[in-house]
Amino acid sequence: MFDNKNIKVYNSLTNQLEDFKPIKENEISMYVCGPTVYNHMHIGNARPVIFFDTVKRFFKYIGYKVTYASNFTDIDDKIIKAANAEGVSEEVITQRYIKAFLDACEAVGCEMDVIRPKVTENIPAILEFIQKLVDNGNAYVSGDDVYFKVSSDPKYGILSNQKLDELELGARIEVNDGKLDPRDFTLWKKTSDLGKKWDSAFGSGRPGWHTECVVMIRNIFGGLIDIHGGGTDLRFPHHENEIAQNYCLHNDLLANYWIHNARLDLRGEKMSKSLGNVVWLKDIIKEYHPNAFRFAILANHYRQVINYQDDMMRQMQGEWEKIEKLYVSVFRKLELSDSLEGGNTLELMDDFLNEMAYDFNTANSITHLYALMKKMNADVRRKDLSIEVLQDEFKTFKDMLYILGINVDIKPLSVEEKEIVLSWQEARNNRDFEKADELRNKINELGIRL
Ligand SMILES: [Zn+2]
Repeated sequence: MFDNKNIKVYNSLTNQLEDFKPIKENEISMYVCGPTVYNHMHIGNARPVIFFDTVKRFFKYIGYKVTYASNFTDIDDKIIKAANAEGVSEEVITQRYIKAFLDACEAVGCEMDVIRPKVTENIPAILEFIQKLVDNGNAYVSGDDVYFKVSSDPKYGILSNQKLDELELGARIEVNDGKLDPRDFTLWKKTSDLGKKWDSAFGSGRPGWHTECVVMIRNIFGGLIDIHGGGTDLRFPHHENEIAQNYCLHNDLLANYWIHNARLDLRGEKMSKSLGNVVWLKDIIKEYHPNAFRFAILANHYRQVINYQDDMMRQMQGEWEKIEKLYVSVFRKLELSDSLEGGNTLELMDDFLNEMAYDFNTANSITHLYALMKKMNADVRRKDLSIEVLQDEFKTFKDMLYILGINVDIKPLSVEEKEIVLSWQEARNNRDFEKADELRNKINELGIRL
């Protein structure tokens, strides 16, 4: 049995597994920090994209209405640097990599019903938010910059489990002359370089990184949301700073459940653009099927580090090919007997969903997919099998693959093609091998997959 109200989520705010209770019954609001668009997506960036798409699919499947938003950071020093290096405008860079990002998302099976705000389209709201923080005494103007005053938030450190005084001059905190306290962070910075800038009461400049998500969440959802997601590297300082700004003005923690996926390492080493050991998603999905990559991500629990290896990808390519082969053969069998639609899910579906409901354990869910495949592989060969059994299995298979985001691309047969395949089967059954060979050649020529 599966109960869609019995869901457990590991909350990074409490470091505990908690019962999941959405704010509105049967609705989920979720936000996942998106990319800074100055380069292609590497395979580590692809992990949250694929994982949170799967979370969304799961909630939709079990009957929730999901609103999912993810931003584009289209203002950043790295974008300016890339634009200057090529001698083009920042828009040329951001538009190019937004398109590349969306194409890559689609290639790895992500649903595209995502609200995608851009920083450049939210500047007035960001400025208004910063002004409120200044008016409230949580931020201050220093020179031409505006900083958030970390000491004004007694809850600071709640997400990363750090005490305010321990944060002083931590390794990751830059010491900046304009700051009253090294822990403070930039909300608005004056820009004298070639980068895009906006006029404001604080002077001409651009926003810092940590404000945009807070403002976008409030714009899109109106306030507190159910799930805020992202990679574990964003937990501090980015998410901590998001919470701090929001808490000072709105007295809530921005989201009830903070979910962080673990890193993806490359052959045992931390992947980093600055170290140059980066593998781009666009290259990997040329070498392997995009579904093999997606499967590799989901075959691991999201809170465990994935150590990306070439053998792992070869193995996953093999797993994907098994799924595809079985899907095609059962699809055709049902199609030829006009039974493609219909069927009821088997109990294995509940087992699959229960694993997903226990902190989105895709790795364990996949073991139920394998159990189903084993059964289907045996059944599809049986001559005495009732078509209803296969229909139920196929419905279960399709539903599991929907949640995992594994899409098998297969075209239904035309009336003419169907006749050819049926004649081929008949010739084989009548042991008319000459005719069967002839028809088989025709099937191959038409590119029909069986
Ligand atoms: Zn963010």
